[in-house]
Amino acid sequence: MHPSLEKLLDVQKLDRETRLLEEAKVRRPMELNDEKRKVAAGQETAGGVADEITACRLNIDKGELNISELEGEIQKSKIAMNGAKSNTEYSIFQEQIAKNEENRGAKEEEVLELLTLLEKLQSKKTEVERDLADMEKSYQRKETEVLGLVKELEEKVGGLKGERGQLAEEIISDHLDLYERINKKVDSDCIVAAEESADEVGVHFCQGCYMTVTKQELNQLALAQDLLTCRSCSRLLYLED
Ligand SMILES: [Zn+2]
Repeated sequence: MHPSLEKLLDVQKLDRETRLLEEAKVRRPMELNDEKRKVAAGQETAGGVADEITACRLNIDKGELNISELEGEIQKSKIAMNGAKSNTEYSIFQEQIAKNEENRGAKEEEVLELLTLLEKLQSKKTEVERDLADMEKSYQRKETEVLGLVKELEEKVGGLKGERGQLAEEIISDHLDLYERINKKVDSDCIVAAEESADEVGVHFCQGCYMTVTKQELNQLALAQDLLTCRSCSRLLYLED
């Protein structure tokens, strides 16, 4: 094998590792998406309960105001009733009082129901907020973990890049340039074996694109005097020992 190829295979190994680490670096933070969605849903639920509580309190206040207004009316009617000039007038006031007392009773019941609802909503709020706090804590824990992993991955990538830089210095620049050009074009390995077919003895295929390698090319590979690329996919070829 050509000596440049041996070194380039080491570069390729580092590139392969780097690619995997870079992929993990993108994939890892995605693991947080589920938790992030859960926290957002929890925040929305908590917000909804808080809104319900506000509305309920407003209705209680309104109800209580209504009750005191009715109370005032009743008192006024009672005073007027005592000063009634006729039986007819007296019974009119009496009817008014009875009607307002009935209304007040209904309102009081309404307010009582609202107070029960408020109590329920407040315990629901406590529950929802506790769940939300748990979710947020779990999210933060996971986020810290993921950020730590990403940092580790970055450090590893940095280490591999340094190693690659040192290795690259030892390679004939034309050969390294050729490798880099292929590297820009393909997402996978730039150097592949010319592997012998399992069915036909002596017939070799490029393991990048499965194009047949000619006899002449095989001879060139065996001589290892220069680098050889596949006619079809341009990857560098080597012959397995
Ligand atoms: Zn090929």
